Amino acid sequence: MASTVHIVGAGLAGLSAALWLAARGRNVIVHEATAFAGGRCRSYHDAMIGMTIDNGNHLLLSANQAALDYVRDIGAEHRLVGPPSADFSFADLANGARWTLRINDGCLPWWIFDSARRVPETHAFDYLGLANLLWAGAGKTVGEVIKCDGVLYRRLVEPLLLAALNIDPPLGSAKLAGAIVRETLGAGGHACRPLIARDGLGSTLVEPALAALEQRGGTLRLEHQLRGLRFGADRVEALDFGDDTAMVAPDDTVILAVPPYAASSLVGGLTVPTEFRAIVNAHFRIDPAPDQPPILGVVNGTVEWIFAFPGRVSITISAGDRLIDAPREELAKTIWNEVARITGLPAVLPTGGIPPWQIVRERRATFAATPAQDARRPGAKTKWRNFFLAGDWTATGLPATIEGAIRSGRRAADLVAALP
Ligand SMILES: Cc1cc2nc3c(=O)[nH]c(=O)nc-3n(C[C@H](O)[C@H](O)[C@H](O)COP(=O)(O)OP(=O)(O)OC[C@H]3O[C@@H](n4cnc5c(N)ncnc54)[C@H](O)[C@@H]3O)c2cc1C
Repeated sequence: MASTVHIVGAGLAGLSAALWLAARGRNVIVHEATAFAGGRCRSYHDAMIGMTIDNGNHLLLSANQAALDYVRDIGAEHRLVGPPSADFSFADLANGARWTLRINDGCLPWWIFDSARRVPETHAFDYLGLANLLWAGAGKTVGEVIKCDGVLYRRLVEPLLLAALNIDPPLGSAKLAGAIVRETLGAGGHACRPLIARDGLGSTLVEPALAALEQRGGTLRLEHQLRGLRFGADRVEALDFGDDTAMVAPDDTVILAVPPYAASSLVGGLTVPTEFRAIVNAHFRIDPAPDQPPILGVVNGTVEWIFAFPGRVSITISAGDRLIDAPREELAKTIWNEVARITGLPAVLPTGGIPPWQIVRERRATFAATPAQDARRPGAKTKWRNFFLAGDWTATGLPATIEGAIRSGRRAADLVAALP
């Protein structure tokens, strides 16, 4: 009988591993604890707002090669949309200033020498300091490597690193920040084009992946939570799902693609990141303002990014732990007030209230991207020859992102494929 690859966890890491192996004729079974695939990257129908929304707005950049390969592979490339060039609109809530960052294509960053393209009130020289991130050592924080104040920091570096690392940037790992700068700003505008799943994460990253997996003969078992692993001397021998047990034959393999807290409870002695940061999203059912850009960065506000979707305006706040326990009504009003000031949409609707809204707070959105937590990320290989790890929290060299998750899945799949 052909050998089986068991993949535990149907987030993007697990799905990318499954798709890659199934495309190469491997017998793949994906076991997912919940009733849906997608993990932290999913859409759902929300009764309060009366529409299908994403758990959180997810931004990809054209630099995210593994993510782009993934959407191409599942035939969903056309569902990621963005401007033809790397233009980022910003608004400053404190003084009403507006500007658009226009990063030129090509590796020579001449945009920093052009006052119409760079951040207003900055000078080309200011940007050179960012290069320090490129060769920062693993133990350093961003705050130890670059100056975390001044106009360039407040208007570009802070929003960029806060979004990418999901942590107050001075505390973040300079090495992870360096990886982001190297793969985006450092690679030129063609790598920085923002891309969003305009019709939702589900129909872009998840449903087409499940269709492709089925078409390749893979199996997805929902509500099939792994409860325990039985380890032999050098390999996993069985998977315990509570009501049933899957025997793992000598040629079978297992990829564990669950979040770090789940992985450490299943594998004794595994070192994993243990600190997390939240992300807060608010969604409002209203048509965006006619002149509203698809993505708008906000500085000096509670709101950090405003996204325009058909019939909906959504906002993102990274490292949002301070808002986790804030009263929902109050938070929705504060956020909408800021959105209305920036977009020109009415602060109060003719009905006397704010648009129908929903707030989604993901407490453990990502591991905390500090140097200490980064040092706790294990590689894909384990001491058991048929057992591999995947997930955005494994040692991908990137912060916890879609790109990192997909790369980790591909890496684990490569290791499985390379076994004798
Ligand atoms: C609100 C929010 C906004 C974000 N914004 C962005 C963004 O703009 N850009 C970006 O690149 N990234 C963003 N991210 C990060 C991105 O979503 C994650 O990096 C990525 O989805 C992680 O995928 P994963 O497969 O590693 O993990 P997960 O998505 O966590 O998948 C793990 C899966 O394992 C399952 N599981 C757990 N335990 C078991 C078990 N015992 N048995 C079986 N299954 C189990 C879980 O149910 C889950 O489906 C955001 C995350 C959040 C939460």
